Amino acid sequence: MNVYFHTFGCKANQYDTERVRQAFDASGATVVDDPAVADLAVINSCTVTNESEVKLRRLVRHVAKHGHAQTIVMGCAAALDDGAIAALPGVRAVVANADPANVLTAAGMSFPLAATRSGGQGVRTRGLLKIQDGCDEHCTFCATTLARGANRSRPVAELIEEAQMLAEQHAEIVLTGVHIGTYGLDRSSPPAATRRGGQGVRTFGQLLESLITAVPTVRFRLGSVEATEVDDTLAGLLIEAPSNLAAHLHAPLQSGANCVLKRMGRHWYTAESYRARIEWLAERLPVFGLGADVIAGFPGETEDDHHASLTLLHALPFTYLHVFPFSVRPDAPAARLPGQLRPEVIRDRARELRELGEAKAAAYREYRRGQTADGVVTGHRKGQIEVMTEDYLSVYLDTHVWDGRPRFEVTVN
Ligand code: SF4
Repeated sequence: MNVYFHTFGCKANQYDTERVRQAFDASGATVVDDPAVADLAVINSCTVTNESEVKLRRLVRHVAKHGHAQTIVMGCAAALDDGAIAALPGVRAVVANADPANVLTAAGMSFPLAATRSGGQGVRTRGLLKIQDGCDEHCTFCATTLARGANRSRPVAELIEEAQMLAEQHAEIVLTGVHIGTYGLDRSSPPAATRRGGQGVRTFGQLLESLITAVPTVRFRLGSVEATEVDDTLAGLLIEAPSNLAAHLHAPLQSGANCVLKRMGRHWYTAESYRARIEWLAERLPVFGLGADVIAGFPGETEDDHHASLTLLHALPFTYLHVFPFSVRPDAPAARLPGQLRPEVIRDRARELRELGEAKAAAYREYRRGQTADGVVTGHRKGQIEVMTEDYLSVYLDTHVWDGRPRFEVTVN
């Protein structure tokens, strides 16, 4: 059976797709790049933006029109499907989340035992390690909690074993999940006296310490982490272990106005506490890649609130921004909040935020140009390699000047 895979959304989804792909591989299926030659298409869906669901429907129709493949839709949008996805042409099954056994069953295949220990190998050139799934928060713009359920941390020993396997093929491992800063908070047992081998790990920082001790040869990188969930252990590793942990933080801000944060249900930080944590880190990290997610035009956001976001973003040393114009997610409570803004207001505010993000990214690049960095090769394209620096800059080099090492000192160009 020829199987085509496509992933929408975040790194947690990429990780999940890879596990399903490995299960199909172990069952004797052949993975193909072109849906036109596939017997089955497996699409991992995302529900974070309206746009991702529009793209999902477009891809499902495209698969049905160009070839003979049936489609299985899995993931977050599938988990919340009210029948609309199931009714799309060629859809064989809609599978909530991305459990490999369930997807194989939906495809009429059995689950191979060999697939149960699979890690994230083969996900691009960097390895992905999903440390937890789900989230206990209820941000009003987010349907992820509904789709993925409560916080569930994976056992430390299992993560160490998977990281060791990944390290055989990857110079960098990205720690990913849905809300990784809450790692361990779903466990109630008291800590053991030692963390050797992972015993006694209760927090994300402690997990990272254990991983670095067990797998000292790779560079770890944090996926998206809330700024105020960077505890002293994590901060200490960022500052003191630069070869083990990339100096990069992607810390969702969403808004710089406290009243908007409150309406978003993001109760665990304020603009002031976010700023204090980032400034503390920035003072101690000579090189620091810093990104944030920001939502433009959340319901009830005033001009003053928007300017509070711009002011905060301006003041902090961001090196890039991910800006999301607010879009109504029918499953998320924000769809029913008063003060929904006109599309042109949302668009204009998103543009302003994006322009600020682009200006800050360009300024940081200029500042780093000519300096050396710790580079890991993350891709190849058209006679060039892409090298990712510790502070999340991409440097492109001609393949013929590369000596084949996966990690080396590179000059930012
Ligand atoms: S913290 Fe908020 S935005 Fe992030 S996954 Fe949880 S509910 Fe969604």
